[in-house]
Amino acid sequence: MSSPCSAMAYHHDSRRIFVGQDNGAIMEFHVSEDFNKMNFVKTYPAHQNRVSAIVFCLTSEWVISTGHDKCISWMCTRSGSMLGRHYFASWASCLQYDYETQHAFVGDYSGQITLLKLEQNTCSVITTLKGHEGSITSLWWDPVQRLLFSGASDHSIIMWDIGGRKGRTLLLQGHHDKVQAICYIQLTRQLVSCSADGGIAVWNMDISREEAPQWLESDSCQKCEQPFFWNIKQMWDTKTLGLRQHHCRKCGQAVCGKCSTKRSSYPIMGFEFQVRVCDSCFESIKDEDRTSLATFHEGKHNISHMSMDISRGLMVTCGSDRIVKIWDMTPVVGCSLATGFSSR
Ligand SMILES: [Zn+2]
Ligand SMILES: [Zn+2]
Repeated sequence: MSSPCSAMAYHHDSRRIFVGQDNGAIMEFHVSEDFNKMNFVKTYPAHQNRVSAIVFCLTSEWVISTGHDKCISWMCTRSGSMLGRHYFASWASCLQYDYETQHAFVGDYSGQITLLKLEQNTCSVITTLKGHEGSITSLWWDPVQRLLFSGASDHSIIMWDIGGRKGRTLLLQGHHDKVQAICYIQLTRQLVSCSADGGIAVWNMDISREEAPQWLESDSCQKCEQPFFWNIKQMWDTKTLGLRQHHCRKCGQAVCGKCSTKRSSYPIMGFEFQVRVCDSCFESIKDEDRTSLATFHEGKHNISHMSMDISRGLMVTCGSDRIVKIWDMTPVVGCSLATGFSSR
């Protein structure tokens, strides 16, 4: 290769491999039937900078990609020519595509996800999804339930209920480092996620989870009514010192430190580790409410990529420590998937 490889897509039925590179080009290869040879097909000048993700669509013969030149491009694999391009405000980091409706989901470094409808030579922006506070590192689209999952460098995962059309989102907080890869298993309704510190989480999505509340804004504590420090007038009037503002993760109220001294997990809202809650919410949380709705596993290496063979329940992780690990996930992703794996 003329430049380091940065992204790859393999289409099994047509045995075509697309490799994105640091220089912005995508190279296509055709793999022989016995998998012993790989023939160069053509090079696509898709981007001006590092290719971050590639999707190949056989029906339209498009190779769709995102890159660090802040754009998504789609090119015709028959002619090798550029069909369309759309620019974002920051580096495009990940891509998912709905083959049936030609919608693309693009995550970027600003933490936004853009939903676009691709046409032959144009595209239209349907909506932008804002919720993450760090760059989007991974996306997963489930075309059956019409759910989009996003992982970000803010350590959190958000499930966007696109099909529900009501803007419903679920927050999943269980990682203590950047979320690097996610995979949703539609059959068992489980989400597998991996983070840079080696954390592996398997989330039960087969229960009705609750949406985390919007954080409320207030000039004084919504429990004891003491002013926050920027509320100079009330501080002067009541001759009190302003307090720092915090938020209860369960009710979203703006509260002072004294009214939110307790910490609790609250898995039904996605809080798998202890978060700040106000004193009255703490009282309302029962012991059984703290039962975890995910299982956590130690990957013991710095995971940078993950891929799953859902039909066999196998997972492969690659790390920045140059180690590749293959995992038998059948004990945690449901025995219905246990086919073909032998630990020997
Ligand atoms: Zn207070
Ligand atoms: Zn509360």
